[in-house]
Amino acid sequence: MKDEVKVGVSYFGVRNPLHVAHDLYDMASNGIDFVVHTYTENDMIFYHDTMVEIVQLSHKMGLEVYIDPWGVLGIFGGEAFSRFVARNRDANQVYSNGETAPAACPNNPKTVDYMMEWLEKAADTGADVVFFDEPHFSARSDKWACRCEHCQRKFKEMYGHDMPLELTDEVMEFRFQSIAEFLKKLAAKAKELGMRTAVCMLPREHEATHWDTIFSMPEIDIVGTDPYWVPRKLTGEDVYHHVRKFSDMVMNLANKYRKEPQIWIQLFGIPSGKEGDIEIAVRAARDAGVANLAAWSYRATAYMSYIRSDDPEMAWATLLKAYRNAKKTHTIET
Ligand SMILES: [Zn+2]
Repeated sequence: MKDEVKVGVSYFGVRNPLHVAHDLYDMASNGIDFVVHTYTENDMIFYHDTMVEIVQLSHKMGLEVYIDPWGVLGIFGGEAFSRFVARNRDANQVYSNGETAPAACPNNPKTVDYMMEWLEKAADTGADVVFFDEPHFSARSDKWACRCEHCQRKFKEMYGHDMPLELTDEVMEFRFQSIAEFLKKLAAKAKELGMRTAVCMLPREHEATHWDTIFSMPEIDIVGTDPYWVPRKLTGEDVYHHVRKFSDMVMNLANKYRKEPQIWIQLFGIPSGKEGDIEIAVRAARDAGVANLAAWSYRATAYMSYIRSDDPEMAWATLLKAYRNAKKTHTIET
């Protein structure tokens, strides 16, 4: 089988189809194969038909479409607020000190019901792949979640004793197991709705022992992580080793479970003069054998002041060059 390189970027912040069409054309004419559209609670409620139009436009430009529950329920990664969390305090996660966390609990049936609705709407946009990005429990430096009644009951069933107040290994395992069960339900529903499924785990080495649980699921098609290197202050060779290490970890499990591996390339917050690290990261992922590359986000996130790159034009040009090189050298036979 030929190792065909596929490259993508995420896209958000613009909901006017006239302008979106311009940007999609820009992507397609620069060799991009897929676009990851964010689909927030706000999009679902106020822009659904617009999103249908945007997905149609993406397909017309020849782009495959991933759809991302960006910041949905406070469970998935993303700079977006959740109306569900504000309106359903009874479904919120509870911190170890008893405070309410600004995220819904994946062990609460109301949360699962809401995600099922989200998936139906997401499938209705016509998207090809649902992208479960960085599913996680809420945490602050001095407290962890979740100790809601559902979690406490489930923990006791699993371990035969009360859930402790400390973040023990059992609690860590319990939380991962909870995320895995949550994803399994969602991915099964997504498949029923005719979408393929992708998951991106946070690049936390101490959690990677649990990745097996999720990457081995028959309901998941594409497995990956996002080993970003800023603000870790890594540059040059360090970037290579960092990205290569996580790419190897994903690749090993992808081979083991026959999944498609995917690596996310950082394209936000790139400091001026450090754009070369983008090329290094792409090379590290390719050296590991990863053929599905995605970057967060379009045009180096020039339009989002919170995390824009210092020189977005240079960063974007560097990514496109690295993507072109990756496609040129896709001669690995597997
Ligand atoms: Zn809970």
